[in-house]
Amino acid sequence: MPSWERIKEDFPIFHNLGSGYTYLDSAATSQKPLFVINAISDFYLYHNSNVHRGIYRLSEEATEMYDRSRENVSRFIGSRDPGQIVFVRNATEGLNLLSYTLGREMAQGDEILITIMEHHSNIVPWQFLQDRGIKLVYADIRPDGTLDMDDLQSKMSPRTRIVSVTHVSNVLGTVNPVREIGKMAHDNGSTFIVDGAQSVPHMPVDVEAMGCDFMAFSGHKMLGPTGIGVLYGRKELLERMHPFMGGGEMISEVYRDYSTWAEVPEKFEAGTPDIAGAIGLSAAVDYLRSMGMDNVMKHGRDLIRLTLEMEEEENIPGLVSYGPRDTEIRGPVYSFSIGDISPFSVNQTLSEDGIGVGASIHPHDVASSLDASGIAVRSGHHCAMPLTHRLNTVATTRASYYIYNTEEDVRKLFRSLKRTAEVYSR
Ligand code: PMP
Repeated sequence: MPSWERIKEDFPIFHNLGSGYTYLDSAATSQKPLFVINAISDFYLYHNSNVHRGIYRLSEEATEMYDRSRENVSRFIGSRDPGQIVFVRNATEGLNLLSYTLGREMAQGDEILITIMEHHSNIVPWQFLQDRGIKLVYADIRPDGTLDMDDLQSKMSPRTRIVSVTHVSNVLGTVNPVREIGKMAHDNGSTFIVDGAQSVPHMPVDVEAMGCDFMAFSGHKMLGPTGIGVLYGRKELLERMHPFMGGGEMISEVYRDYSTWAEVPEKFEAGTPDIAGAIGLSAAVDYLRSMGMDNVMKHGRDLIRLTLEMEEEENIPGLVSYGPRDTEIRGPVYSFSIGDISPFSVNQTLSEDGIGVGASIHPHDVASSLDASGIAVRSGHHCAMPLTHRLNTVATTRASYYIYNTEEDVRKLFRSLKRTAEVYSR
């Protein structure tokens, strides 16, 4: 078991910010260990050249490093063939690729089934297809923040061509039963897509066991650099699909009037790829693997469990939080509000007899106040506006944890929240 108290030492940013700095925004992006930073600079210092083009030694070295990174990422998510790993910029690009390519094969009246807890990157690309008469259908959540599986089932129809679901919600932390959803989707003859942006960094993920057709995720949320992400796709599907972007690398032959395509995955990697990014992501995978993804998941659950316990103990007036209380189905994300922050509310939460029971504090003010104590959290709609509205609010504050966070970080969060609530209720 890794020593969680010591892991911060691997991350230069914490030396630079000072040991008292508490970073609780890893659901937005994670910090990077020196191991990853070194892998990227090593590439630029000693191996930099373009891939798949040169006949010279340096280019062969770069190509080998790039290809090895693909193999490493493939193994990490349980894919049996590195040809199923397409390097993209991020989860968003992976999902846009799918909307473009799968959308070409869809007809008016076809349906895409998603959930109300999706990130905008698993909503907006599908909305692009609506002007061709393709319908976007939403499955709802239950009051405890879990996905309403009966609603999901009832919304599957013979026209449902795609079911696309987040594995872990970036607001609620809900871990969705993707294996079960995949079976339902396949029984219905639908293609099953998983948004793995918040799961791959935090838990063991095996695409074969999960039974998904595609999964998209981002390197920067799992200790890797920004600018590199992955779209996993079943080989036979990738082979059948039309390319996304055209240009160099993705072709076999180009004539004046037409072109033929390279094999997958190159067919989907037009232009010079983010070579250093892929190498950095592979280093991040090595680092995470050395900790054991079971241990990473357990650490996240321990921190969320403590968070929910502290929430009950501290009993901050007006504090409401969202998402399942069962830590077995909860990622390390904690979203909450203090008081009613609907646009029509007054600035005090009142009890029935009209006595103030606590302040109503806008999430941006909560975040600013925590920042003054050296705690970084996010506030707003977290790129999940339909979910925010479904929760009947306009914004929340979100603390999210990763391997470098400790129990002391959770305690510090609640000490500062308590102080903030007291100051605002004066
Ligand atoms: N899906 C989920 C669940 C996310 O949390 C995020 C990032 N917040 C994304 C997709 C998009 O990731 P990126 O911005 O790296 O493309």
